[in-house]
Amino acid sequence: MSDTDIRPGERAADLPPAADAQLRFIGRARTPFASRADCPRQGRLDGPDCALELDLVWADALEGLERFEHADVLYWLDRSRRDLVLQSPKSDGTLRGTFALRSPVRPNPIGLSRVRIVRREGARLIVRGLDCIDGTPLIDIKPEACAYTPEAPAKAADGA
Ligand code: SAM
Repeated sequence: MSDTDIRPGERAADLPPAADAQLRFIGRARTPFASRADCPRQGRLDGPDCALELDLVWADALEGLERFEHADVLYWLDRSRRDLVLQSPKSDGTLRGTFALRSPVRPNPIGLSRVRIVRREGARLIVRGLDCIDGTPLIDIKPEACAYTPEAPAKAADGA
């Protein structure tokens, strides 16, 4: 069975060609995982060191991130099919809705992982907690929300 084969009971939508928003990839994930089968189902904070290898133009965009212990990383699960409405994660005919799963198969295959920041090496951020194939395109990196205090002044709607 290939990575994109449909399983018994699963249902795909009949979709027109995707008109993608113009995402701008910021770099690539460097991981020890060569294929989907090699990846963990979810990254672990005690997993192997991986690198967020940013295009050089974004190197300075990492300034200040090392103050945080954790970051949220968004990436594009580029080898996923994008048309499944119902999925059978266990391949046993039991079905779940795509939006009730964290499966890589979704209309917009965005992966989200909370990672531990290990260190910065110029345009590379070494992290633990990824679960994606080596070379997966990166969309964004943000400090983890709970540890983050907005630097801009509070607005009325913040209850300030
Ligand atoms: N942690 C993310 C999340 O919850 O949004 C992703 C979880 S997803 C279950 C992780 C799985 O996606 C991996 O185990 C692997 O099977 C698959 N995967 C990893 N890299 C991929 C890629 N570039 N394209 C498609 N699937 C990928």
